[in-house]
Amino acid sequence: MTDDWQNETLHPSWRQGFKVTRVLYREKTDVQDLVIFENPTFGRVMMLDGVTQLTERDEFVYHEMMAHVPLFGHGAARRVLIIGGGDGGTLREVLRHASVEEATMVEIDRAVVDRGLEYMPMVSAGAFDDPRTRLIIADGIRHVAETDQRYDVILVDSTDPAGPAEGLFTASFYAGCKRCLTPGGILVVQAGVPFVQPGELGRVQANMRESFAHASAYVLGVPTYVGGVMTLGWASDDDTRRVPPAEVLTRRVEAAGLTCRYYTPALHAAAFALPAYITTPGPTL
Ligand code: SAM
Repeated sequence: MTDDWQNETLHPSWRQGFKVTRVLYREKTDVQDLVIFENPTFGRVMMLDGVTQLTERDEFVYHEMMAHVPLFGHGAARRVLIIGGGDGGTLREVLRHASVEEATMVEIDRAVVDRGLEYMPMVSAGAFDDPRTRLIIADGIRHVAETDQRYDVILVDSTDPAGPAEGLFTASFYAGCKRCLTPGGILVVQAGVPFVQPGELGRVQANMRESFAHASAYVLGVPTYVGGVMTLGWASDDDTRRVPPAEVLTRRVEAAGLTCRYYTPALHAAAFALPAYITTPGPTL
């Protein structure tokens, strides 16, 4: 069976279709419309409410940059909180750091975890079975508002600012994250694809700056995200942890003994150099 699956949230001029060779699973969960299908180029694809979340072929780009920039920047993170990320890709990369003693994931939709394990197990690659993993099925907004736990790094690996994720992009949520961070802790959030979502990053950074001394952004090139360049928002009170000196970063990566397919120490530093159209946005598309 083949039909085109329209990625509904993209600007009409950028609406892309994924060739669907086989639909593996589809469910209207009590949170969102979840579909997993096969595409001849990108392998297995997960979409939520019509928006591409990840593909088997290029998920490593996003998950490596979501995890390794803050973790190598921090240098000694022991307790990590992941909001969202139900596919397990970010969790997989976080657990590659031996310094991490506990990785808590707060994911609102159990179906994303279960179906991800069933149809895209290569993404989590056993991360949910790691004894350091704590999986909590709950709203991340409520967890941050109510927990008495403290974290060295918080990663918001969420869907876009709509539906259950809308509150994850607000100043009050970022203030809650600040409260849950240890001194010098780092917050990194999914901040959209500026080429087709031009206002999102600016709003994220303005909301972060209400609580954090430093808020910036870094870019990554994810082939399946239209416009190619995706941004992750970075916030902390200690800017020295954003891009440590090259020799420090290289030493940390070597000591960690990680081989990545996208992340490198040089790319870590370069990723914070943003294209002009992001920093000085022109007319919207
Ligand atoms: N890791 C993927 C990627 O490469 O972009 C996508 C992220 S993951 C699939 C997004 C997750 O955020 C979904 O599983 C969704 O259920 C979850 N989510 C959305 N709002 C949430 C909330 N308020 N609390 C916790 N999880 C939430």
